[in-house]
Amino acid sequence: MPDGRHSDEPTEKCGVVGVSLDGRDAARPLYYALYALQHRGQESAGIVTHDGFQQHSHVEMGLVGDAFEEGDLDSLNGPTGIGHVRYPTAGSVNSSCAQPFSVSFKSGSLGLSHNGNLVNADELRQDLAASGHAFTSDGDTEVIAHDLARNLLEEDLIRAVKRTMNRIHGSYSLTITHDDTVLGVRDPQGNRPLCIGELDDGYILASESAAIDVLDGEFVRDVNPGELVVLDDDGGGYDSYQLVDAENSAHCFFEHVYFARPDSRIDSKLVYDVRRELGRKLWEEAGVESDVVVPVPDSGRAFASGYAEAAQEDGTNVEFAEGLMKNRYVGRTFIMPTQDARERAVRLKLNPIKDVIEGKTVTVIDDSIVRGTTSTQLVELLKDVGAESVHMRIGAPAIVAPCYMGIDMASRDELIAAGRDVEEIREEIAADSLSYLSVDAVAEALGESEDDLCLGCVTGEYPYDIEGEPTDRDIARPEVGGDQPEAGVAGSDD
Ligand code: SF4
Repeated sequence: MPDGRHSDEPTEKCGVVGVSLDGRDAARPLYYALYALQHRGQESAGIVTHDGFQQHSHVEMGLVGDAFEEGDLDSLNGPTGIGHVRYPTAGSVNSSCAQPFSVSFKSGSLGLSHNGNLVNADELRQDLAASGHAFTSDGDTEVIAHDLARNLLEEDLIRAVKRTMNRIHGSYSLTITHDDTVLGVRDPQGNRPLCIGELDDGYILASESAAIDVLDGEFVRDVNPGELVVLDDDGGGYDSYQLVDAENSAHCFFEHVYFARPDSRIDSKLVYDVRRELGRKLWEEAGVESDVVVPVPDSGRAFASGYAEAAQEDGTNVEFAEGLMKNRYVGRTFIMPTQDARERAVRLKLNPIKDVIEGKTVTVIDDSIVRGTTSTQLVELLKDVGAESVHMRIGAPAIVAPCYMGIDMASRDELIAAGRDVEEIREEIAADSLSYLSVDAVAEALGESEDDLCLGCVTGEYPYDIEGEPTDRDIARPEVGGDQPEAGVAGSDD
């Protein structure tokens, strides 16, 4: 990770939002929505609005609550706008990569918020630079902005977006402002989430439905893979354009396992329900009788309640208990330059409740193991406070490969499961037993075919054409350069 920060958890990179309202300023609704998406990125926060005449922008490093003061929101005029919270994926950790990215050009102004990661950004940057585009950052969002700006010189908005979609390859959910028009786009395989909500006086596009809830809105539906949604600039509705079709989708299964809020609905499923179902399947596949089932807070909780419920239905006397307390004032990541400090961080973040653990056989339920530091420390801590035995159960398959689609999973040589079998990992973390959930069970819990999921980090085969990595489908990155393809489109009103 950049800047010597380390996390033993996968880290989501970005949350995006866009709103179009009937007369009311968009800045405050965007600000509240960003608060609801704060878990998706803590490095920077920003809002771009348009008042019908000009674009206004405020982007700062830090948490949403620190990035905006009252006066900043007052100066963000206009009823349409987009927002972004970011943890950097492509591009360095500095304000030049903070988003929304905004630019003015011959045919108007553009603002872009991006969640995901392009895998052909370097080729596109070189192609655009060769035709005179100058870049101010090394991020992939600026590449999308320049490509779209170039296409807008020749095409209308819808065709310009389609042309750009035909050139960019990788994972993207975007909210875009073109002057006072707000758009939402999801990549043809729908890797990262994006949904539509209806507010009292307008419409919203957001990474997760929790951002709609916070504005007392109604969830309408997910944006479909390859779909462009254009919000009416008076907040009265939206138009839909299915611009690119792919044979299969590649939804990131880790959104349900870990990243998304449990109260969000992603690809039509409530994340909390999916996590409980994953926990039930974990019991079916790898249940072990023990005195107590303890979740690793916070995301392990729903898994553990499903696991314990299924165990009790099978007639076991297992008790579900909160045996680990989380210190909420330790951030997800902080400066930890050495392994020793990283290990200390686990004790700072999680403390076992001795009375719940002492003298008991304990099953610990977690959502994933990345480097293994947390799991090793947890097993040691639980034994230190008197656990008779510690059984680790993980609500996802083992992470064996990095993510190229916008999630920080650590590099291959840092992943404890890369090149090790389950017994070797169990030995490494010193648990009495260890089991992961199968890929089949994940697909079943999500109600999707494995062909419609991204499973890259647990299979090592990716749904995009990534240099040096195998793919799990018939897919190739587009040729960049040469003549632009025709961009015929048809739309529908909703
Ligand atoms: S590789 Fe893993 S974390 Fe990355 S998009 Fe695919 S499923 Fe999600």
